[in-house]
Formats: sequence, structure tokens, C-alpha cells
Amino acid sequence: EPAVTQSFEIVTQRPTQTQRLGAALGALLGPGDLILLDGQLGAGKTTFTQGLAKGMQIVDVVNSPTFTLLKEYRGSTASRQSPTSQPLALYHFDLYRLDDPDEILDLGFEDYFYGSGVCVVEWAGKADEIWPTDKLYIRLSLVDESKRRLLFVASGPRYCELLQQFQKNTYAIT
Ligand code: ADP
Ligand code: MG
Repeated sequence: EPAVTQSFEIVTQRPTQTQRLGAALGALLGPGDLILLDGQLGAGKTTFTQGLAKGMQIVDVVNSPTFTLLKEYRGSTASRQSPTSQPLALYHFDLYRLDDPDEILDLGFEDYFYGSGVCVVEWAGKADEIWPTDKLYIRLSLVDESKRRLLFVASGPRYCELLQQFQKNTYAIT
């Protein structure tokens, strides 16, 4: 029986380390994956997403899509997952300015969360009632000026497996 939930915590010492963790996760992602990020302003959500995009072979500059709620990037699976890398879209959401979770449904965003790209959502806590049961939740918090705590919580077999693989791959980083 695969685990139903699993969690794992890391403290990073600097922004580049947070990005490297993001890249390690990004390299493991595939169609339909949902990554939810939460934590106060400056916790490192965008920094982590920048690394994640890099891990998906995205070269564009990634920043917070504060005025648009959603930005789309063309990425691909890491070649180590299969002999040929496959195109994989990254949908980067930032719900900072969201007033009502129903807005997400009104805008048709649910299609993305159940679609074939990868979704990364900053300020996911603003819409906790709408998320699918299976997802990877990452809670970031400030320890001090240069340290950030990242708590990974996987729900469902796909994300428990993903988190296990991620944990193995990051022994070298942390
Ligand atoms: P958020 O998207 O959560 O508001 P950002 O990633 O935009 O946060 O900003 C994080 C800020 O904290 C950046 O200015 C970054 O340089 C700084 N920082 C300092 N230490 C770290 C760390 N260990 N990990 C990530 N960011 C860090
Ligand atoms: Mg941000």
C-alpha cells in the first residue's frame, strides 16, 4: 500500500539553494502535476518557482505574475525521465490579489488544475477549498534574513512517490 500523505522539511541557507531545490523538483515533473506554494511575502515562492522552471528546461525569466494571476511557459520533461524529452507547459499562478476563491472557477482555471501541463500556484492558501485531494503542498517560511524553511506535504500516491524521489535527489544539495 503506498502512503497517503508524506512530508519532508528542509532549511535553505540562501536563495540559490532554494532555486536548486526547485530545479530538482522541476526535473521530476510530468503532465498534470499540481504544486501549491504558500507562505508570506518574501518567503521564497517565486524564487523556488524560478528553479522549478529551470528544471523544466525553461529559459525565460520567471517572476511573479502579480497583475495577471497566470503566466504560461513552454517547458519540457527532463531528458533523464525518458530517452526523448517531451513538451510540457508550466502554468504559473499567483493568487495574491484574489478576493474570492470562486473567481478561479469563474475564470475557468480549474481546467488547468486537471489538465496536462504542470501548475504551480503561489498563495495557494487563498483558495484552499478548491484544490484536488492529490497535490504537493509546499509551505515556505522565513527563519531569518537568508534562511527559509520549506515543508513539503504530499497527498496521494503520485505525489508521495514524487516526494520520495525528490528527497533522494536532494541529499546531494542539502
Ligand atoms: P515570494 O514569492 O514568496 O514573495 P520571493 O521569492 O519573491 O518570495 O522573494 C524571496 C526573497 O527572499 C528574495 O529577495 C530572496 O533573495 C530572499 N531570500 C533570502 N534568503 C533566501 C532563501 N534561503 N531562499 C529564498 N529566498 C531567499
Ligand atoms: Mg512571489
